[in-house]
Amino acid sequence: MVQSVITVPGEFQLIQQFFQREQAEQPAEGVLLGIGDDCALLQIPHGKQLAVSVDTLVAGVHFPADADAELIAERALRTNLSDLAAMGADPLWFTLALTLPEASEDWLRSFSRGLFACAREYKIALIGGDTTSGPLSITIQVMGAVAPGAALRRDGANIGDFVLVTHNLGDGAAALALIQNRIACDEPSANYLRDRFYRPTPRLQESALIRELVTAALDISDGLVADLQHICDASDVGAVIDVENLPLSPALQALNNQPQVLEWALSGGDDYELCFTVAPEKMADIAMLIAQGKLSATVIGEIIPGNKVICEFEGEPFELARTGYQHF
Ligand code: ADP
Ligand code: MG
Repeated sequence: MVQSVITVPGEFQLIQQFFQREQAEQPAEGVLLGIGDDCALLQIPHGKQLAVSVDTLVAGVHFPADADAELIAERALRTNLSDLAAMGADPLWFTLALTLPEASEDWLRSFSRGLFACAREYKIALIGGDTTSGPLSITIQVMGAVAPGAALRRDGANIGDFVLVTHNLGDGAAALALIQNRIACDEPSANYLRDRFYRPTPRLQESALIRELVTAALDISDGLVADLQHICDASDVGAVIDVENLPLSPALQALNNQPQVLEWALSGGDDYELCFTVAPEKMADIAMLIAQGKLSATVIGEIIPGNKVICEFEGEPFELARTGYQHF
């Protein structure tokens, strides 16, 4: 038997009402044909390369199933935009594959509101997608433009490079602990952490600033140690992290639980900060950006010979219980 996919208010009407109409109000660069046909037709900006990434968020795995739909949408698009930032690409377009247990108008209205608020903020256009019924899951594919040779890849780190991260680490894991009622904190910290979880900031501005100064970069989604290891594997080098230098938000510092906070910062995941490596001769430029208040970034270690990420606390070996989030 062929099951009807979504019945109320009808799949096409639903797409039209919550996605196509909203998108039609936004002028979008390079979209020759948007939502509504079998394919979108897109014109890549002249002389640029296309950077493409896709991520799926599954209810109960990547976000609580009963979370506010507006926030789910924000998180889904923002975490995908983070991949464009990590690649040094400027956002252009995205597609959305939605699997919904039911076609609730309230849920869709809220989802659509969050999605387009974020799309407007980061100037990225929805150009198509797919809508099916089943357990709640959201797949977003983002596309961005990058000049030939300018992409921030993982394979360019050299021995002697400094390792830096943007803003603060550990907030994502602390926020998840808070959302799951494993920790408690004061109201301002709780608001800050919830916002960091549902509305992580894709570091596009930072990416644009450091683009020409870095040897390798990625965004931290699975935890600093696990993700820095990806740079080490791709670049055939090792790295040492100076744990005492990890940047921690006031909210995390206020928890007064250093071992837990350091574990979150090193292996918690969900931070969506950039981790990048800089050759010594470019460090003055980075330091200048930091001193001018244009860039929030901290030196947390160095690229060394070898093939592993090691952690030290004030020069002594620092052992970590778990190194990163793994799905399987
Ligand atoms: P097809 O059967 O050709 O795959 P669909 O019925 O799945 O077409 O979709 C019709 C149009 O609506 C297509 O242009 C598709 O890209 C768009 N679309 C479907 N679902 C979504 C969605 N959730 N968000 C944005 N566009 C969507
Ligand atoms: Mg389809």
